[in-house]
Amino acid sequence: MDLKDHYDFVIIGSGFGGSVSALRLAEKGYSVLVIEKGKHFRDTDYPETNWNLRKWLWIPALKCFGIQKLTFLRHASILSGVGVGGGSLVYANTLPKPKAAFFNRGSWAGLADWETELEPHYKTAWQMLGATVNPKLAKVIWPY
Ligand SMILES: Cc1cc2nc3c(=O)[nH]c(=O)nc-3n(C[C@H](O)[C@H](O)[C@H](O)COP(=O)(O)OP(=O)(O)OC[C@H]3O[C@@H](n4cnc5c(N)ncnc54)[C@H](O)[C@@H]3O)c2cc1C
Repeated sequence: MDLKDHYDFVIIGSGFGGSVSALRLAEKGYSVLVIEKGKHFRDTDYPETNWNLRKWLWIPALKCFGIQKLTFLRHASILSGVGVGGGSLVYANTLPKPKAAFFNRGSWAGLADWETELEPHYKTAWQMLGATVNPKLAKVIWPY
């Protein structure tokens, strides 16, 4: 089967990036295939403790098909999520917006007024992810 004959787009990975891209493309009428290497986790599938290594860690060689992948490189160690939803399965559910300094430095500085440009997209993302203020925080940074 040639995927090109069946799908306009094939997306590898169903994390925040892949799933949102798939949604947007499908909304525009394209046919989209999303390929995800991890499992689909229902509410009842999550491990109650990290000691349940088979359900927590993603190490297929050891028959661990959980939600958390650990990658150790020479100068960096990487945590990432695996499964339908990608990092959303393991992330800490905090949705901060970077401070102004972030938008004005790095290779992207000066190319655009990124803070203004991205503002409506932060609002869309917060709305779609159901962001709300943590009442236990001492300093409220959203909504501002
Ligand atoms: C423990 C933890 C806590 C975090 N807390 C926060 C937080 O509080 N707030 C925040 O904003 N961010 C947080 N993050 C970061 C956030 O989760 C990531 O930035 C985000 O998930 C990245 O999205 P992504 O779409 O780029 O990739 P991912 O969400 O990682 O998705 C990639 C997907 O691709 C799949 N995949 C990879 N290779 C293949 C392949 N060859 N074939 C098929 N599928 C493949 C993976 O299984 C995965 O599902 C946290 C991350 C971790 C690990």
